[in-house]
Amino acid sequence: MTKTLCSSCGLCSNREWPVDESVQSCVFSNGWLGERERKLFGRERSLDDPVEMRFGITRERFTAQLKRPVEGAQWSGIITRIAARAFEEKLIDGVVTLRRSPDNHFFSQPLLAETLEQIDASKGNKPVLSPVLASLGEARRKGLRRVLVIGAACHLHVMRDFMERYEYLKEMEIMTVGIPCVDNLERSQFNRVLERISDSPATAEHMEFMQDFRIHIRHRDSRIEKVPFFSLPDELADPGIFPPACMACFDYLNSLADITVGYLAGKLLPDQKRQWVLVRTETGAKLLSLIERELDRYPEFGKWECAKQIRSTAGQVIETMKGRQKPYRPERNIPLWLGHALAGVLSVVGPKGIGFAHYSTDYHLIRHYYYVKYRRPELLETLVPRHGPLILEEYGLPL
Ligand SMILES: Cc1cc2nc3c(=O)[nH]c(=O)nc-3n(C[C@H](O)[C@H](O)[C@H](O)COP(=O)(O)OP(=O)(O)OC[C@H]3O[C@@H](n4cnc5c(N)ncnc54)[C@H](O)[C@@H]3O)c2cc1C
Ligand code: SF4
Ligand code: SF4
Repeated sequence: MTKTLCSSCGLCSNREWPVDESVQSCVFSNGWLGERERKLFGRERSLDDPVEMRFGITRERFTAQLKRPVEGAQWSGIITRIAARAFEEKLIDGVVTLRRSPDNHFFSQPLLAETLEQIDASKGNKPVLSPVLASLGEARRKGLRRVLVIGAACHLHVMRDFMERYEYLKEMEIMTVGIPCVDNLERSQFNRVLERISDSPATAEHMEFMQDFRIHIRHRDSRIEKVPFFSLPDELADPGIFPPACMACFDYLNSLADITVGYLAGKLLPDQKRQWVLVRTETGAKLLSLIERELDRYPEFGKWECAKQIRSTAGQVIETMKGRQKPYRPERNIPLWLGHALAGVLSVVGPKGIGFAHYSTDYHLIRHYYYVKYRRPELLETLVPRHGPLILEEYGLPL
């Protein structure tokens, strides 16, 4: 029997309602976007608009950073400031989110933040599957009426479905802030992967896949270690290191959030922490207005085109998703010096800004389409949203 996909979103951990009701709302049974997008926006994304097909429905997009970044946040801390301001303005009674585990800097615990101190403690990434929705039941039990949920796309898909399907949360007004999310990890894999990437895993405190085609790892002493994507050990090319649920994820940019806050299309500049903001709903605009005066704003930049880069990698991606004949090796296929040289060239001639966001969304959509096609074919029709096959066709890739 094939295993059911699950991203441990946390809904099924609630004691406030039966598990067999939670699973009815599972995105891995119901599929991505489609009806959920129509319910939220009154329509699905346009299939005639190449930008909306990738980035989802938005009313405004721009890049920005906080004039006074939040110390210890992932980037400038826009999300943490939105949550704090919404709490200060009494728009919300609590935040359904995460805090760091006491025993591992990169691991999470669910958190219902009900004070400014607790909201501050939720900042920063926990790059592992995280049961954000576990605190929804606690919020209900405590009678909270207005809640902000900060989550990845799987959290928001499941929660929006659950709110509509059942009455448990009907007294609650819920606002949402979304993070873009991809390449997340199971806790059981995280340490092994970090050890294979970093020269000093014990001191690593911050890790991100960056727009300069390198992974940046910040260490406790502020050193930034940079590892080019091209020089990762061969064994990290194995799709088996990622949770099967994340390889079947088709909403990188969190299209059901009221506002999505990432960094993908932001300009990568030394000593700056530019982020990318996608305002999707009226509620998202209201949340943004709370921190408007704290922001330095910049328009999106970069050329849209990235077909050359996608075409140069798609064939290899498809073969890998089919399953490799040769075993994965611990060595790097490309030495670090050459990887840095390639990343350096691509940083100059490759896609930037919205072009990089375009490249990264298409790359992951293609990778996930073929993962599901070859490894979970019974789920292809349910999971892949309408725009998926159209993007493949744009590149002449087989369905
Ligand atoms: C696994 C992962 C992959 C990501 N990939 C991308 C990417 O490719 N492109 C991109 O633009 N952005 C990505 N992000 C989001 C990005 O790293 C930042 O979180 C985002 O830009 C917000 O920055 P900030 O300074 O405003 O966040 P902060 O103010 O530090 O707030 C971050 C919020 O996210 C919550 N959070 C942290 N980890 C998780 C998690 N695992 N699940 C749910 N909520 C979480 C925190 O609890 C906190 O509330 C990713 C995040 C994660 C966890
Ligand atoms: S992803 Fe969430 S809703 Fe789906 S099975 Fe896992 S915990 Fe339950
Ligand atoms: S990659 Fe997708 S399924 Fe995995 S945690 Fe992120 S949003 Fe959820």
